[in-house]
Amino acid sequence: MKGEKLLENLYLICKETEKSCNIYAIGKTETILIDCGIPETMEAVTKNLASLHLPFPSYIFITHCHFDHSLAAPDFKEKGSKIVAHYKTAEALEKDTYKIWPENLPAVKAVKVDIKTRDNCLLNLSGYEVRLIHTPGHTAGASCFLAEISGRKCLFTGDLFLPSGKIGWKGSIDFSLEEFGKSLRKIREIDFDILLPGHGDILDKEKGSKCLEIAIENLKNPL
Ligand SMILES: [Zn+2]
Repeated sequence: MKGEKLLENLYLICKETEKSCNIYAIGKTETILIDCGIPETMEAVTKNLASLHLPFPSYIFITHCHFDHSLAAPDFKEKGSKIVAHYKTAEALEKDTYKIWPENLPAVKAVKVDIKTRDNCLLNLSGYEVRLIHTPGHTAGASCFLAEISGRKCLFTGDLFLPSGKIGWKGSIDFSLEEFGKSLRKIREIDFDILLPGHGDILDKEKGSKCLEIAIENLKNPL
């Protein structure tokens, strides 16, 4: 599969596979990835970037520590990318690596996070302003990223909820239903044009808002 252009300077660079999440690329002369998937999808990511004349990622923003979003981070870092994450996600990536993939510990490598952020931090990197919004629940460090790209407000939500309206998986070691509810209500207040989830289809404002409401309803019934 080739990378799919979503907007000028925004791409679904690798669609989710059975073991890897949706990977998005922002950029033109420099590239930012939102999540980086697993080592097996790294080749597809780099090939798709090259075919779009986008350079190797300068920065990898990680929405949360789960392996399908972060396992390739050490490999990208080895080739020069800098890793950006909420400080609680950084703790998991750097030392509490059992949180990344508890069922397959030998596959997990620790990675040093270059930029550790907090809630509402505005990152100005590679010519883009990206706001981190801490949305714990699915994991303690789970975060959304908000960036204006080609005049559209793009909200990257990781595993906050699935486009079916189901809320992200509850099996995580640091899952918290209470925090999840707060995070969904916090994101409901965010003005966005496009919602880009870690799994499933990209949603416009209307569909995204509807799914968010369904997810809030589904809090009583997590996956
Ligand atoms: Zn997850």
